[in-house]
Amino acid sequence: MLKNEYIQDIENEMEELKQWGLYKKEYPIVSSQSSTIKVDVNGKIKTMLNFCANNYLDLANDKRLIEMGKKTLDTYWFGTASVRFICGTTDLNKQFEKDIAKFLTFEDAISFASCYQANNWLFEALLGKEDAVISANLNHASLIQGIRLCKAQKFRYQFNDMEDLENKLKEADSSGAKKKMIVTDGVFSMDGDIADLNSICDLADKYECMVMVDDCHATWFVWENGRGTAELCGVEWRIDIISSTIGKALGWASGGFIVSKKQVVEKLRNQHKWYLFSNNLIPAIASISSEVVHILSSSKDLRTRLENNTKKFRSEMEEAWFTIRESIHPVVAVMFGDAQLSSSISREMIEEEGIYVKDFSFPVVPKNEARIRVQISAAHEEDHIDRIVESFIKVGEKYNVI
Ligand SMILES: *Cc1c(COP(=O)(O)O)cnc(C)c1O
Repeated sequence: MLKNEYIQDIENEMEELKQWGLYKKEYPIVSSQSSTIKVDVNGKIKTMLNFCANNYLDLANDKRLIEMGKKTLDTYWFGTASVRFICGTTDLNKQFEKDIAKFLTFEDAISFASCYQANNWLFEALLGKEDAVISANLNHASLIQGIRLCKAQKFRYQFNDMEDLENKLKEADSSGAKKKMIVTDGVFSMDGDIADLNSICDLADKYECMVMVDDCHATWFVWENGRGTAELCGVEWRIDIISSTIGKALGWASGGFIVSKKQVVEKLRNQHKWYLFSNNLIPAIASISSEVVHILSSSKDLRTRLENNTKKFRSEMEEAWFTIRESIHPVVAVMFGDAQLSSSISREMIEEEGIYVKDFSFPVVPKNEARIRVQISAAHEEDHIDRIVESFIKVGEKYNVI
C-alpha cells in the first residue's frame, strides 16, 4: 500500500523540478506529425511549426507509405500475437530484414520493436565476463543500460578523445580481455556531434577490437546514400555491428534493428532476450519500412532538401549571434546554459511564437549546458526556417542572450 508520506515526497520532488526548470511538460499534438502541427497548449488548440520531431525525411505522413500500411493492415491485420520464434515471423518481417541489410551493405539484419530493445540485451548476448566493452561517455541511455546488463569488463572513454580511447584499449589488454568491443553513438543526439569513426576504426585495427555503432540519428538521411555515419566517415566496410531505429527518420514511433555478419545475427536470434521474450514489429511497420528502403534507394530528393534546410538554419542562427554547436547535422543545439532560461525561452517560443521547440536540461544533458535542440526536417519550407529564426531573435533579445 502506497503511504501518504511517499506521495507527499513525490509531490515535493516534482515541485522542486519545476522550480529548477527541470520538469518535463508535455503538450499533446492533435494532428498528424508534420512541419505544421496542431497542439493542445494548456487547453487551447494552436497551429504551430514543429521543430523538434525526428521526422527528418518528412515521411511521417507520406501518402505512399500510408497506402502501404493500410494495404498490410487489410491483409495481415495488426500483429502476430507471438514472439518471432514461436509463430511471430511473417514474410514481411523477413523481407524488411533483407532490405535493410542490403541498404546498409551488411550480410543480415534482425529487427526489434524498438532500438532501445535492440541495444538492451545485445552486449549480454555477445560478450562474456572474459571480454571487455569500451564505451563512449555520452552514449545513449539504451547503450549504457545494455552494457550494464552484460558481464564483460567495462571501460569508458571521452567520446571525442582518441588518446583516452587508446589508453582504455591498452588497459583492457593488460587486464587480459579476450574479445573487445568499442561502442559509440554515430551521432551524439543532444549536440549533433559526429563520432570520429575513422580514428576509432584505426584504433580498432591496431588493438584487434570490434566496433559497434548506434546510428539512430543518421541511418536513412546521413549521407549521399543514407547509410549513416559509417558512410559519412568512409568506413562502411570496417564497422562490425550497427544498431538503428525506424522510429526516427521514418516518422513512426516503433521499430529498431541490428545489422552485422550473418553468424552474429543468427546468434542474436537465438540469444537476445528482447527478441526471445517480447513482441516484434507488426507486419504493417515491416512493410512500410521496406517501402522506405525502395523510395530512398531510388531518389535523393528528400535528403537534399534536408541538407539545404539544415545549412540555411545553421548559417542564419550563426549570423544572429546565437551559440550553436558546430556540425553538419540537422540536430542543432542552441546553447543557453541555464536551465531556467532555456525553459523560459522554449515556453515563450511555444506559447507566444507558435514555434514548437523543446528545451533540454539535466539529467538529459550535463548541468549548466541547458539548450534548445532544434531539429530540421525535409518537411520545412524556406519560409518556416525564416520564421523560426525571426522568433529566436525576438525572444533572444527579450532575454538578453544575443
Ligand atoms: C532514439 C534512440 C534510441 C532508441 O530508439 P527507439 O527505437 O526509439 O527505441 C537508441 N539510441 C539512440 C542513439 C537514439 O537516439
